Amino acid sequence: MHEAEIISLARDFPRFHPQLGLGIGDDAAVLTPVPQMPLSWTTDLLIEDVHFRRGYYSPADLAHKALAVNLSDLAAMAARPLAFTLGLALPRDLDDQWIRDFFAGLRLAAERWQVDLVGGDTTRSEAGVVIAISLLGQVPLPRLQSGARAGDLILAHGDFGAAAAGLFCLEQALPGFEALKQKQLRPEPLLDVAQALSQSLGPERLALTDASDGLGRSLQLLCGPELGCELALDAVPVLPEVFALAQATGQNPWDWIVHGGEDYALVACVSPAWAPQAQALGWIPLGKITPHPPLRLNQVGKPALELNQNAGFQHFGPGDAAL
Ligand code: ADP
Ligand code: MG
Repeated sequence: MHEAEIISLARDFPRFHPQLGLGIGDDAAVLTPVPQMPLSWTTDLLIEDVHFRRGYYSPADLAHKALAVNLSDLAAMAARPLAFTLGLALPRDLDDQWIRDFFAGLRLAAERWQVDLVGGDTTRSEAGVVIAISLLGQVPLPRLQSGARAGDLILAHGDFGAAAAGLFCLEQALPGFEALKQKQLRPEPLLDVAQALSQSLGPERLALTDASDGLGRSLQLLCGPELGCELALDAVPVLPEVFALAQATGQNPWDWIVHGGEDYALVACVSPAWAPQAQALGWIPLGKITPHPPLRLNQVGKPALELNQNAGFQHFGPGDAAL
C-alpha cells in the first residue's frame, strides 16, 4: 500500500473536537486550546520485537494498545484526552489487509475514547513495525507522582500481574489463559477512574501514577528517595488466573505482580482523611507511606520483601517493563 493510501485511511477518522482546529491534510495540525486550561502531552513508542511480536499481536490489538498506553499516561495525570498524532514505520512485507485492520482497530479505539487523529507521518521501515503516538489532553488540575507524605494511604485501582502473566503465555505459546492474554494485548486505560478520584478530592492532595512499569516501580516513584512504605501484598488485587498460571507452570506469581509492567492499573497516595471517599469510588487500600525507606512489602506468613530505589526488574522478553 502506498503512503497516500495509508494517509487516506487516517483521514477517514471522525473528529470529536472540531473546535480544536485543523487536522490531517496540511503541513501540520492547528489546535486552539481552551484559554487558561493546562495541556498534558505524552508520547509512547511501540517497537516490534522490543515491545511486541507481530506473531501474537493482531494489527487491531496493536492499534488498541498503542493508543491505550498513551491514554493511560494521561489518566495518570487525571487529564482528559483530546487529540493525537500517529508516526508509523512499516516494513515492506506487510500486506494491505494488515494495514487496513490496523487502521480499523485504531479508529475503534479513537471512537471509544473520543480522540481526534490530527496528523502524523508514514514511512517505510527496514526493521519491524514502529508506532509512535503522541497524545494531547487537557487537565484542569494535574496530578503528579510527587507529593505523597508520611502517613498517606496507598490505594490502587485495577489489578496487577496479569499483563506480564499474559505475556509469558504468549511468549511460551501456551493454550488457554485468555483473560491474561487479553490483559497483555488490550490494556484498559483507567481515564474515568482517575478523573473521578481527582474531581472528588478537589483541591486536596493526590499523588498519582499508572503502573506501566509494575507495582514496585510505582511505589518507588511515589515514595521518591526520602519516603518508604508498608504495603500488604495480600491486599493487592490480582486475577485468580495469575495464580493458576503460576501454579501450572512453576513460576513465581509475585514476580509478575510486583515487577511485571503493562497492567496500567493506577496507584494513588492520599491523606487518610480522604481514604473513605476514595474507597467509595472503588479504590483498594494497600498500605501506607512511612517517613523513611525502605519500601517494605509484607505478606502474611512470609518474610517481608524490601524494594530499594534501584531494584531491578524481572525480564519477560518483549514488553519488558524496564524498557
Ligand atoms: P509532510 O511531507 O509535510 O510531512 P506528509 O505527506 O507526510 O506531509 O503528510 C501529509 C498529511 O498527512 C499531513 O497532514 C500529515 O500530518 C498526515 N499524515 C501522514 N501520515 C499520517 C499518519 N500515519 N497518521 C495520520 N496522519 C498522517
Ligand atoms: Mg511527513
